Amino acid sequence: MAIDPTLELAGLIEGYRRFRATGWAERRERWAALRHGQEPRVMVVACADSRTDPAMVFDADPGEIFVVRNIAAMVPPFETNPGFHGVSAALEFAVQVLKVREIVVMGHGMCGGCKAALTQELHGSEPGQGGFIADWISMLDEAREPIAAEFGTEGREAERAMEQAAVKLSLANLRTFPCVSELESRGKLRLRGAFFAIAEGILYLLDEESGEFQPVS
Ligand SMILES: [Zn+2]
Repeated sequence: MAIDPTLELAGLIEGYRRFRATGWAERRERWAALRHGQEPRVMVVACADSRTDPAMVFDADPGEIFVVRNIAAMVPPFETNPGFHGVSAALEFAVQVLKVREIVVMGHGMCGGCKAALTQELHGSEPGQGGFIADWISMLDEAREPIAAEFGTEGREAERAMEQAAVKLSLANLRTFPCVSELESRGKLRLRGAFFAIAEGILYLLDEESGEFQPVS
């Protein structure tokens, strides 16, 4: 099928052709094995930001990681109110069906969602005009307060603190899911916080005892 060359997709189709010619062909046996199912050991929650693709950061093969991406790499708390709980559904699938052994929440530098949480620039926006984002990142409101008090609401120091606080909040929210906390207490599931600094290309892991993010050597 001919692709309209004016479409942005046309450039991606070129990438698809490279994938078919190299990536897919080289890993053909891997794809054949995956035809019958997937057994990823790790779930990654990441931001939808185009610069923090977990498969790229971890150089992961197909079938290796189960990924959920959204604004600011957030996990909402366990809630049973009506609505469409996309992250909760993915989490349920990863934990109960795929039985992943680890869940990694990976925040990142220069996160627009965290920045908006900090500045509250979308506060009061209508749904479709920024309101969905404002509502989603309002999860960070409480975590924002001490950061805004200490660092203000602008500049990288404040933003990085917000980005890293968001990871910690998502880990705390993960533990509000009974299936997660139960498996974690039995040693069947591990949670990890991570932070990918885009400009440096460096991955940091959270030491939950000290609360510090340490670069991976
Ligand atoms: Zn982001």
